[in-house]
Amino acid sequence: MKCQECGRDNADRYKFCLNCGAQLEDPVTGLLKEAQDFEEFDLIAEAIEKMEKVVQLAPDSIKHRKKLDELRARLRSLGI
Ligand SMILES: [Zn+2]
Repeated sequence: MKCQECGRDNADRYKFCLNCGAQLEDPVTGLLKEAQDFEEFDLIAEAIEKMEKVVQLAPDSIKHRKKLDELRARLRSLGI
């Protein structure tokens, strides 16, 4: 992921930037935040897209899977 400070692209496994030492945001945390923002604005399809990535990155998280199921059910109930 890209460093917010210097723009260097670091491998996802690093917690700190190899170039400047700034703390790198956990990709799951970032995606969860984006999914939440989309959900707030009722952009359910977009929120699902983000949650699918979260589940890919953290496949053993039951909480995240549940959230994804919840969003999918909501999308269905909207009839889209
Ligand atoms: Zn950096």
